[in-house]
Amino acid sequence: MTPRRGRPAVFTRAAREAFLTAVAAGTHLGDAAAAVGVTGRVPSQHAVNDAEFAAALKDAKAAGRQARNDARPHGEARYNHQGCRCPVCTTAASTARTTRKSRTPEPDTDSPGLTAVPNPESPTSFSLPISSSRATKAAA
Ligand SMILES: [Zn+2]
Repeated sequence: MTPRRGRPAVFTRAAREAFLTAVAAGTHLGDAAAAVGVTGRVPSQHAVNDAEFAAALKDAKAAGRQARNDARPHGEARYNHQGCRCPVCTTAASTARTTRKSRTPEPDTDSPGLTAVPNPESPTSFSLPISSSRATKAAA
């Protein structure tokens, strides 16, 4: 490793390994960084200069995503996002769909939305006070 000038090496080899392990286990990047005592920016910055770390981080992210997906309970979300077609997910998804369909949409009359309401009290323009030196200059 080439010596570098500037900031001290807070993101040590041990910290990098702990970070990658946490990410692979499904910990979100910011939390994993905080766990090893760096800000979330440090690992991504490090990945720019270290191709080996960048590759390891990519793998760890994929593993982490998988771990989070595996941890998601069976239900409508898992049916929609992971394509799980087990009986639990299929039933949950079709029940939710049926419930949404049977619900009649309510007309949106209460919310004024972005309609501009003119306010007669509000002046459309106003004068800015001119500083005395400027006023004098303008008069001259
Ligand atoms: Zn399922």
